[in-house]
Amino acid sequence: MGPINVIQASLPPFEEYIEEIKSLWDSRIITNMGVKHQRLEQELCKYLDCSNVTLFSNGHLALETALMGLERKGEIITTPFTFASTPHAIVRAGHIPVFCDIDPIDYTIDVNKIEELITEKTCAIVPVHVYGHMCDVQKIQVIADKYNLKVIYDAAHAFGVRYCGKSAVTFGDVSMISFHATKIFNTIEGGALCYTNEKQFSYYYKAKNFGITGTETVEEVGGNAKLNEFQAAMGLCNLRYIDQNIEKRRLLVERYRYNLKSRSDIKLPPVQEFVVSNYAYFPILIDNSAFTRDQLYLELKNHGVHTRKYFYPLATDFGCYKKQYDSTNTSVAKYVAEHVLTLPLYADLTLEQVDFICSKI
Ligand SMILES: *Cc1c(COP(=O)(O)O)cnc(C)c1O
Repeated sequence: MGPINVIQASLPPFEEYIEEIKSLWDSRIITNMGVKHQRLEQELCKYLDCSNVTLFSNGHLALETALMGLERKGEIITTPFTFASTPHAIVRAGHIPVFCDIDPIDYTIDVNKIEELITEKTCAIVPVHVYGHMCDVQKIQVIADKYNLKVIYDAAHAFGVRYCGKSAVTFGDVSMISFHATKIFNTIEGGALCYTNEKQFSYYYKAKNFGITGTETVEEVGGNAKLNEFQAAMGLCNLRYIDQNIEKRRLLVERYRYNLKSRSDIKLPPVQEFVVSNYAYFPILIDNSAFTRDQLYLELKNHGVHTRKYFYPLATDFGCYKKQYDSTNTSVAKYVAEHVLTLPLYADLTLEQVDFICSKI
């Protein structure tokens, strides 16, 4: 069996993409919120069951924009168990990250540890739906309301996830979602802000296009974070296959669970109540004394199976943050970062490959 990567980008049939981009040669309008961009926004509103979806050139700039748009600058409570983008967006938008520990079961922010971190400088909470696991959105909203804080979700992993019948991206004030090549739905690079209060539209729209509001009017010190027509076309094609890709992932995840269920030395990801999963990742926790996560990582690599220490290291151990923060303050996050391994998972992985991976584990 050839090497198996941890992730493989989903692509539509080649001819279908070529067909989708043909009209761009007629119109010569290849960016600046053209027809593909508009159509993708409409189709994503429908698919994600959310009244407002504003596209961006990537998820990170979407998150940065949402954070720059907050009325107050200040401290923002988030977790260190996330991708570099989350704390970086907070800092680059002029705020100060304050790191909260995570829940030992689903690895999302520990809602029982948020309140002790709130000061008069706190302006927002940025929880992360890690691996598509839903944060405790209800408890987070109760805390936010009590202290008058904004809630901006990093929902980069949560495309298509539903909780109690509601789309994951409709909780809080706004959710950032990523369409990067490695995510379950991609526009090559891309992302969006999803929100239910349409008043936010005006700022987001201006912020991603230099603050331009008309041919002779500029109203905001905006940047440039526009998704172009070729990316939007990729999104339109990929959206046609998303349901069947999620179904393929579901079968692969079931196979992993079946193969590994008797392994008391490996902790499998939780199945959350009232949550419709998108099967974005399959993280296992190596929770025993016989072998370490790093040993398993190397052993699998020797067999051509490429897994990922995701997320490792913790954000508080990054060179750019470790002087200001002490990662032992978030001991659960530290433990999980040192013991977790995500196994290969993508729509075109085969059940035979899953069996092979499990036999090597
Ligand atoms: C992918 C990702 C991002 C950033 O999204 P991009 O589209 O790559 O900019 C942010 N947060 C998390 C948790 C991610 O996985």
